[in-house]
Amino acid sequence: MKNVRKSFGSLEVLKDISLNVKEGEVVSILGPSGSGKSTLLRCATQLETMTSGNLSYMGETDPKKMMPYYGLVFQNFNLFPHYSVMKNITDAPIHTQKRNKEEVYQQAEALLKKLGLEGKENAYPCQLSGGQQQRVAIARALAMKPKMLFFDEPTSALDPELTAEILKVLLQLAKDKMTMVIVTHEIDFARHVSDRVVFIDGGVIVEEGKPEDVIDHPSNERTQNFLKKLQ
Ligand code: ATP
Ligand code: MG
Repeated sequence: MKNVRKSFGSLEVLKDISLNVKEGEVVSILGPSGSGKSTLLRCATQLETMTSGNLSYMGETDPKKMMPYYGLVFQNFNLFPHYSVMKNITDAPIHTQKRNKEEVYQQAEALLKKLGLEGKENAYPCQLSGGQQQRVAIARALAMKPKMLFFDEPTSALDPELTAEILKVLLQLAKDKMTMVIVTHEIDFARHVSDRVVFIDGGVIVEEGKPEDVIDHPSNERTQNFLKKLQ
């Protein structure tokens, strides 16, 4: 993202945000409620149109051609309730990406296995725990074979045990060198998994850098105050 601004009416939510994520990098975004974190992800994934600024994925600057580059996992899973687990995962690869059904089903089986969801193919979202639903959502995003994944507070709807389950999946993806941008309030996790931490407040990037700098030795007063409140 380069010089991205986003306003809703007279409210300017993103004020000149520039963020460059490298291949294989894991970036965590921290910031108070209302600071613009979700709006940033929604602009990056074209769910919102930017008011101004530029977006590009690996040199691709045509908005119509960017979709294959990214996936987004939401806080509340956003699975299709009337689709089985299998259909949730395979529907878009088959119908939107027009890929070979056999190949897509095989990939889906492999993803279910990898995410510990074997045997859940025919279950419906309401029959799964929150952690399982979130793992299906991650499998669905991965099934599109994106170059990078965005996560918007992927564990904040989950209790501690299920949170740990999802954080483990994210850690494994990081080890697999998946490029990721993660909005999270899980500070210890962010410190552990991230190559870079970005702190946002009031729609601007206030501070960014290595987790040991931004989280353990923040230089900005706003970052210091935010982290104090979380402890
Ligand atoms: P949280 O940590 O609570 O999820 P956030 O950092 O993700 O907060 P955003 O959801 O990006 O914050 O919201 C930033 C600001 O933009 C808020 O003031 C919010 O009310 C406003 N906003 C977000 N979406 C819209 C919209 N569609 N229309 C109008 N205002 C919006
Ligand atoms: Mg948000």
